[in-house]
Amino acid sequence: MRTTTVEPNPSTITLGMCTHDVVPSEGNEASARPACQDADPLLFFPEGRREDNWRIGKAKAICAACPVIRACLLTAIRQQDNDGIWGGCTPAERRALVRDVRGLRRDVKAIVRRLEEGARFPVRRADFLAVVHQLTRFGWGVEDLADAMGVRPQSVIEARLRAHAAAPCDGAVPTEMA
Ligand code: SF4
Repeated sequence: MRTTTVEPNPSTITLGMCTHDVVPSEGNEASARPACQDADPLLFFPEGRREDNWRIGKAKAICAACPVIRACLLTAIRQQDNDGIWGGCTPAERRALVRDVRGLRRDVKAIVRRLEEGARFPVRRADFLAVVHQLTRFGWGVEDLADAMGVRPQSVIEARLRAHAAAPCDGAVPTEMA
């Protein structure tokens, strides 16, 4: 049985062998009951078994219904947990989120200014996410972004989705990681 407790300020989520110091991110999230409280820990800590994908899917489904999913994910990122499903994400998915936060923090002001002035040019891969994110916030549509940078609209849509997922995680990624 998976042991889970959430206590307010500072709150702690204890799941099996792991302990997270959770910083509540919104509302009274910290007083809610984690959805994994009575779940099988093996679902959340798959160990290379053939049925891992099945376990991961089950764990993610539990997380999706969890009232503390956001706080759990941000804490796992902040504490750089390399094991287990936390906040609905595998370790690889959390590392990808951290990489995308790094991408969003890039200084792309000069690029954005040139595009806003009407220039049309390919944007370096490293800057792409931040440029799409910033111009989207300025009201640019998918087709306009794709035309300006000479990429497929699908690339812009995918970048938007990644930026949408990563932006709320910004505060959880320590500066030294980004
Ligand atoms: S998000 Fe998932 S791992 Fe985190 S407390 Fe909720 S159910 Fe448990």
